Amino acid sequence: MLEMPARPRGVELIRTEGLTKHFRLGGFLSRRYLHGVDDINLSIHEDEIVALVGESGSGKSTIARLIARVYTPTAGEIFHRGRTLSSIRSHRDVLEYRGDVPMVFQDPYGSLSPVYRVSHGITRALKLHRPDLSRQGREDEAARLLEAVGLTPALDFLGKFPYQLSGGQRQRIGFAQALACRPELILADEPVSMLDVSVRIGVLNLMATLRRRERISFLYITHDIASARYVADRLLVMYAGQVAESGPVEDVLAHPKHPYTQLLLSAVPDPRAPISLPATGEVQEPPRVIDPGEGCRFRSRCPYAIEECGRVTPKLRLLRPAHEAACHVATSDLEVPRVDEGATVR
Ligand code: SF4
Repeated sequence: MLEMPARPRGVELIRTEGLTKHFRLGGFLSRRYLHGVDDINLSIHEDEIVALVGESGSGKSTIARLIARVYTPTAGEIFHRGRTLSSIRSHRDVLEYRGDVPMVFQDPYGSLSPVYRVSHGITRALKLHRPDLSRQGREDEAARLLEAVGLTPALDFLGKFPYQLSGGQRQRIGFAQALACRPELILADEPVSMLDVSVRIGVLNLMATLRRRERISFLYITHDIASARYVADRLLVMYAGQVAESGPVEDVLAHPKHPYTQLLLSAVPDPRAPISLPATGEVQEPPRVIDPGEGCRFRSRCPYAIEECGRVTPKLRLLRPAHEAACHVATSDLEVPRVDEGATVR
């Protein structure tokens, strides 16, 4: 793991309050809704990496797309440096916001046009977000950005087409395009999930370097809790569109309070451990959250569910300093036993 000294938090860049996104299922008159995310409250500060961790369909990417203004919230609000996103309307202001908070996508193969050279995407972003630069200035800056993301010699890469690059190199191009906007926060949507394991660590190190050298914050979206531990300061564990647990990474991993976080941790493979099948049969598809009603959404998989879990939705409660979990049975006094210690899933 990278050595991360404790950092005082800087200015708050993004805050969400009660952020909710529902998707209508069926035709215009349908009253069935898929709950993408419900009541999300998070903040991201200057010089900070916040990780959103959870299974596919847990709502992580929906949050990133809401912050990127790809989706419009069903309810709740997003604040950028204290200003509501819904008040940003003019083309100029939207462009400026998208430059401050760009997105890097999961698929390094689909996110670059196969017909343009590397230089095209970067200089296009520079034209949009740095109109002060001359043509020569854009070319110089494009080369500098490629060097900043570890692609050297930069002039060689500027002339290449995407098919001439590996997955890791393409993902670095994605980061260079984001840097062209001079961002303060990058929304990194599973940037390493489609890369070979041996290449992932290089991209994670790149994020840590950009944070350290350029003071860029990240919202890092991943299903891999181990990689979140590697780079992030804070962690939000998502389940079925809600935050199950949040707090400083090391504290959440050392003292996981929510049974779902414990399940995620127990599923992290240890290459040195003997091979065995999971003891609790917990390998299930995550639920599609359609009109869920009240109650804990994890209850069908939870070995500790009590009667209250079926009728009352648990709220996030502070259980340790800066560490919250949404669970009726987890308390600061009670360490919920790990699920791999013989409990039976109901
Ligand atoms: Fe399990 Fe109940 Fe806690 Fe949900 S609220 S995680 S069902 S014990």
